[in-house]
Amino acid sequence: MDAKVMADGLSPAEACRRQVEVAAAYMDLEPWLVERLLVTNKEVTVHVPVKMDDGGLRIFTAYRVQHNDVRGPYKGGIRYHPEADLEEVRALAMLMTWKSAVVNIPFGGAKGGVQCNPKEMSARELEAMTRRFTWEISPVIGPERDIPAPDVYTNPQVMAWIMDTYSILKGQTVPGVVTGKPLELGGSLGRFEATGKGVFITTRAAAAHLGIPVRGMRVAIQGCGNVGGVAARFFSRAGCKVIALSDSKAAVYNPQGLDVEHVLACKDQYACVMGPKVKAEEITNAELLELECEVLAPCALGGVITTANAAKIKARIIAEGANGPTTPAADQMLHQAGVFMLPDILANAGGVTVSYFEWVQNLQNLLWSEEEIGQRLEGILQKAFAEVLAIAQDKKVDMRTAALTLGVSRVARALKLRGIYP
Ligand code: NAD
Repeated sequence: MDAKVMADGLSPAEACRRQVEVAAAYMDLEPWLVERLLVTNKEVTVHVPVKMDDGGLRIFTAYRVQHNDVRGPYKGGIRYHPEADLEEVRALAMLMTWKSAVVNIPFGGAKGGVQCNPKEMSARELEAMTRRFTWEISPVIGPERDIPAPDVYTNPQVMAWIMDTYSILKGQTVPGVVTGKPLELGGSLGRFEATGKGVFITTRAAAAHLGIPVRGMRVAIQGCGNVGGVAARFFSRAGCKVIALSDSKAAVYNPQGLDVEHVLACKDQYACVMGPKVKAEEITNAELLELECEVLAPCALGGVITTANAAKIKARIIAEGANGPTTPAADQMLHQAGVFMLPDILANAGGVTVSYFEWVQNLQNLLWSEEEIGQRLEGILQKAFAEVLAIAQDKKVDMRTAALTLGVSRVARALKLRGIYP
């Protein structure tokens, strides 16, 4: 597993359960509800055989975990990563359930992961692996059952292969089986930007609440993929100073503000943020987290903020673009230090929100305009931010506990109404 592994002595799934238990203490939940919500509904493990370009056969271990669907079909991304494992996927599936509930969209939570290194695979190998994985999990996915989406190192092309394979199996085109598809295949306008834009929208709301002017606000962002790169663009366009950006190889830092477009162009061209003519000092990913700034947005992997570095963090706001970047113990330290935490299930919920718009459009054969999507996204995220903040203020808890209280209580109410079969 990657950095999130056993961070502060807890596995990702344990950390997730711990957070829910903390939030449950602020709700009047019957114990059976908590017990039910802390376990997943279904966990599928498959071994995916792929004929590699060198003529050999490789078998990849892959997972689809469905945590809960009482509020609607399972929903969640698929990640391709060498350290993807069942514990991690389980934790991420659970987070998806609360996230859908925080933004109040009618989805449950799931997640997928394939243990592979996509950087070392050819496009043909990736396609073969994706198609066989889709075939293996096809009995448990579907537009009314479980709808995958992109996550770390998966993209619209991977979604297109999933959609095509599933459609062939069903004998008809089924665009609604995945979201985050290319526009040509029923993808939604605004989906690619949605998660990063949501990080910006929620951070802007937090800054307004704290009285921090957005113009000139210093922002350090870890990761510059779909979430971090897009968020960097939105911050930069709003007049913030994006002082640091990183990828898995390097981090770049300029206290006067980076030329975000130039850094992202370097990332595209040279597969590294530290390219020619980037006016910045090279620092490490660990140093990036400890920079003097107003906003720190971890937008790469989980478990990067732990008790080892929490006390060194100087940001006033942490916007969790990534899923699970902060361990529960670090979370407490940051809260006590007065850092305003925008938890993952709120800060990065823009992605699942526009995924929902994509799914709705697919099911109804509609095409919404970018403007319409932008307005709906803003409305949903601002409402969710206000609801979470109101709970935090009312119960005098941190924003993560408040967001979990909101999400878990919505799911628990639905579960109670449905009851346990038989
Ligand atoms: P991505 O593959 O597009 O980008 C990942 C980025 O992280 C890349 O810039 C990569 O270089 C960087 N990275 C990888 N390993 C790193 C390391 N060890 N240190 C520093 N940087 C590293 O993935 P993404 O879709 O942007 O996802 C990033 C995070 O956001 C994940 O935690 C994911 O679960 C979460 N997330 C994604 C979405 C979405 O819509 N894509 C939605 C919600 C949450």
